[in-house]
Parts: sequence; structure tokens; C-alpha cells
Amino acid sequence: MSAPRGLAPNATIGIVGGGQLGRMSALAAARLGYRCHILTPEPDSPAAQVSAGVTLGAFEDQAALRAFASHVDVITFEFENVSAEGLDLLAALKPVHPSPAVLRISQDRAIEKTFLNGIGVATAPWLAVTDMASLNQAASRLGLPAILKTTRLGYDGKGQTMLRTEADFAAAFAELEPKPLVLEGLVDFACEISVIVARGTDGGSTAFDAVENSHRDHILDMTFAPARIPADIAAEARDIARKVADALDLVGLLAVEMFVAADGRVLVNEIAPRPHNSGHWSIDACPASQFDLHIRAIAGLPLPQATRHADAVMKNLVGPEETALWPELLATPGLIPHLYGKAEARPGRKMGHVTRLFALGGLPGPFAIAAALGPLAAQDEMAASNPAIA
Ligand code: AMP
Repeated sequence: MSAPRGLAPNATIGIVGGGQLGRMSALAAARLGYRCHILTPEPDSPAAQVSAGVTLGAFEDQAALRAFASHVDVITFEFENVSAEGLDLLAALKPVHPSPAVLRISQDRAIEKTFLNGIGVATAPWLAVTDMASLNQAASRLGLPAILKTTRLGYDGKGQTMLRTEADFAAAFAELEPKPLVLEGLVDFACEISVIVARGTDGGSTAFDAVENSHRDHILDMTFAPARIPADIAAEARDIARKVADALDLVGLLAVEMFVAADGRVLVNEIAPRPHNSGHWSIDACPASQFDLHIRAIAGLPLPQATRHADAVMKNLVGPEETALWPELLATPGLIPHLYGKAEARPGRKMGHVTRLFALGGLPGPFAIAAALGPLAAQDEMAASNPAIA
């Protein structure tokens, strides 16, 4: 018998980060016969609750990184903002997928956009901002309104401010940390979509269909699978995601967030080399979810196709109000509930999600979707309308 390909059963996968993405990755790893060991500074983290082991420590703590690496056979991430020195240390100790080079690109908006534009992938128009003079210059070239963003450590709308008039410049520049910054022209978008692609050690890749995302207070609220966009735009979005994964020589999972502009152009907003909130629907609607594909890719196992057997809507449970509906959600027929094990439902905190499945090709309109979400429908303004795309 030939040797089995990839990581052997019972091996230990190290996951950097203790959040829900790590939790759902660990659950998928367990189904494939692996153990997970988590690195996180947080006691009782969502990921550690379902894993075989945990190293409690800061992501920049060299002793913690060494201890973590000593427990594991391969390392992956659910949290990307590990310092360059930390990444190099981990890579010197154990195989790391995706590679530190990929993380360095995705950690920094300016490096990311330079990389994307360099491989011929369109983004919003942007310019680097290091001081007030470069901000003034960038604003006069890109026009107003425009969005000023930190290059690092931005997520869920944090680290960015809209500039409407010149009167906004000084306060916005002073407030946003860490510097440097980028200024982006405002995209007139019809909708926001994402594509999740998995790519294996042999360079083979598979991408889920494009999905459509709606946000509330800068936080992902709902995902519609598939995106309600013309087929040629959906195909272009998948092609872009695979092209980016190939150019990165990715091993693992990559989420590519994109705008579909009102004129039909597809522009990449940002990339994340890890499981993504907009892929949670795949747990319930696909033979192999984004988490299954993530684990298979980093373990060097064969990659099944990223197909789905149902259409789906995913709604996040954010903050105390939506989380308080948990008992009613459990009692609502057709809703598939997921809770992340977090002790406290602070405002803006992602506590869980629900998925509702529909027949393949049968994603209904906004009113039927609202009805299908039961008690959550009233919580939501149903940002579900999708203006026609030219
Ligand atoms: P980000 O942190 O870059 O993912 O941005 C968060 C959200 O802000 C996006 O999902 C968009 O809704 C909006 N946004 C960010 N950049 C732009 C842009 N250049 N034009 C229009 N909307 C944007």
C-alpha cells in the first residue's frame, strides 16, 4: 500500500487565534481525525473550547509562539495580524500554511493593493497617505467623497473614515492609527460580493460561487448564496479569486471581497487568507464547507470541489439583542443555529449565526427571505434589495 498523502490522522493542527473561525475550523478538523491546538491570549476562547489543547499567550510573545509550535505538526491562522518576527519564528519551527509571505501581503492594505494591481486585478482607485500634504494631494486626485483607511489592523469598518469635505481632513488624519494610511475613491457599487477559494499543496484550486453580502454598522449582517448577479459577473469574480490565489501560491483558503460597481466592473476590496464570515453558510449547504476545505488544503489532503447542494441565506447574530432571540431561533423550523460559546454579548460582537437553506436555484426574494428568518426578520431592515446592475 502506498503511503497516505498529507497529514496523518491524529496529527495536531496549530491554529493561531481563538475566535469562531478557529472554532469552526477545529470542528472540521475533528471530523477528519485531527486534533487542534490553539494560540490565543484569551482564556476560554471559542476555538479552545472545542480543541485538544491551548497555549495562552500574546501573538508577539516569542516564548508563547515557541511553546505553541512545540505542540503541533502544521500551523494555520484564523487571525492574521501576527508580527513579521512572529511569523518568521513560527515558520522556522513548523510548516506554516498559508505562508508568511501571503500574510504579509494581506496584513497591509497598501502592499495588498499594490500586489493586486500588479497582477492586473482592479481595485478602487487609491493612493498612499503619509502626511497632510500627501492627503491633500491624494484627495485632489481622487476627488471627494473618499475613504481614508489605516493600512494595518482594520476590520469590521474600524480604522476608516469617510472624507466628505476638506474640513474633515485634519481630524481624520489625526485620529486614524496606526499610520501610514491609504485614501480610496468611493466606489458606486451595486452590491458587495465575495468568493472563497481553496488551493492545495499541488496548486489545484476550487472556488465557491460568488455570494452577496449586506452589512449593518460596518459589520457583516447577511450573506446570500449565490449572489443575485448576472452569470458573467459571477464567473469573472471566481476567475479573479483563483487568479489571486495562484499569484500568491496560496496553500489554504482565501476570501476575496469585491464590489460589483454600478457599471458592472468587479473591483477587489480586500483579501483574507483564512476562513471568512461570508462562507459560514457552506457548513450547512455544501458537502465540503469552507472549513473542511481549509483543513484539507493545509493538511495536504485531496481537495473536493467547492459545490453546494442548496441555496442559502446566513444571518449573523450580533450583540445582545439578536443573541437574546436564541431560544426563539432554536424553536423556528428551518433555521440552522450556530453559537460560538462567547460568555458576553457585547454590542457589535459576533455571537453566532443562523443559516436557512433553499432548494438549489431557489433563493427567494426579500420578503420570503425575511419570513424565513422568523424572529430575526424584525431585527433586520432586510438590506436585501439588489439594484439592477447595468
Ligand atoms: P473594509 O474595511 O475595507 O472592508 O470596508 C468596510 C466597508 O466599507 C465595505 O464593506 C464597504 O461597504 C465600505 N467601503 C470600503 N471601501 C469602500 C470604497 N472604496 N467605496 C465604497 N465603499 C467602501
